[in-house]
Amino acid sequence: MKRLLCTLLIAAGSLAAQTIDLAKEIDRIPIFDNHSHPGYADDSDVDAMASPPGSTAFRLRPDNPELVAASRALFEYPFRDFSFEHAAWLVKRKAELKQQEGQQYFDRILDRLNIETVVANRVAMPQYLDRKRFLWVPFVDSFLFPFDNREIRERNVDEQTYIPLQEKKLKRELSQAGLKELPNSLDAYLRFVSGILDQNRKAGAIAIKFEAAYFRSLHFSDPDKAQAQQIYAHFHKGGVPPAAEYTLFQDFVFRHLLNEAARLHLAVHFHSSVGIGDFFNLHDGNVLNLENVLRDPRYDSVNFVLLHGGFPHDREVIWLAARKNVYIDSSFLELLLYPSEFKPVLKYWLTIFPEKVLYGSDAFPFNEAAGAEECYWLGVHSARKALTEALDELVAEKALTRERALAIARGYLHDNAARLYGRPLIP
Ligand SMILES: [Zn+2]
Repeated sequence: MKRLLCTLLIAAGSLAAQTIDLAKEIDRIPIFDNHSHPGYADDSDVDAMASPPGSTAFRLRPDNPELVAASRALFEYPFRDFSFEHAAWLVKRKAELKQQEGQQYFDRILDRLNIETVVANRVAMPQYLDRKRFLWVPFVDSFLFPFDNREIRERNVDEQTYIPLQEKKLKRELSQAGLKELPNSLDAYLRFVSGILDQNRKAGAIAIKFEAAYFRSLHFSDPDKAQAQQIYAHFHKGGVPPAAEYTLFQDFVFRHLLNEAARLHLAVHFHSSVGIGDFFNLHDGNVLNLENVLRDPRYDSVNFVLLHGGFPHDREVIWLAARKNVYIDSSFLELLLYPSEFKPVLKYWLTIFPEKVLYGSDAFPFNEAAGAEECYWLGVHSARKALTEALDELVAEKALTRERALAIARGYLHDNAARLYGRPLIP
């Protein structure tokens, strides 16, 4: 009798498994978006970056018709293009909704897309984002640029765009700390840096973000404090540091920031892929440059998140996640790559270390018409499609049961990130 019952239960179980419709189940998974830049197009705190002039990858161009589909789905946009007059309708509609809905404006977008939580990588958090849904990750690169940056700025038009923003941000942080100029010693400078991190932590920050790949190599050496002290003493009152000395000083401050992240239980996010701008240096920005830091046992208590999956080094990057404290985030890739190209990336990652891969969108406002709202739509639609197809293939080749495939989907879209930040898992 017992055996019969067992057989019946197993049969019922496998029948239920066979009937799991992955597409439908994946739609139902509430999403935890590990990385994006939510906000209005005219809000300069949305990002610490700005777009330099230069080429834009095909799918990221504002004339991408998929963005029109997003506006139609989210705002009942009645047109099929973003011509000037048509876009004006959308801008007006969004303005009305922002006025009516206030803090609920972005919440409503998330609800429509079944996004539960969003990690907002922003300079500061605005009133209009609901802090229950939007968690904050501030930038820390400004602390790497306290000296005269003339030489870096004049390197090319990208740095001419980026460096003044870093300088402006550092000024803002100095005044936040009640300082009119750089402190007199390296120790005092490090205390200032730590003070800002403390304030950010109190204001709800869950991680710090480096976009260092836009300015320099991701290889960070491990210099002596005495060397950094000397450089600081030389240049904090003025003068352009030789490139090698500036880099060495930055390496030292970088190490301080990692130690502070450990003290404050903040995760550390890196821009780890190719970036915008025609001068982005692929060699310097290669995620493998971080290997000495990621595999350093001194940082065992720091959780590292490699944003944008080290692309185009996505084959190598997953092997960095062998370390228990290293995670891979797929943001930007589901916007840059069409689902048919994103699917093989995801399928490969999820068959190596599935519990270490995080969904992220990298949603940001293209312009007033095609906003972060449309990007959230594009990100979730693309990721769900690629994920469903990748898992369906793995089920078909008998690598996974449908239950295991569904568990992996839940991990990728929600639970891996929730676990990392100590947030509630899907019930
Ligand atoms: Zn981003």
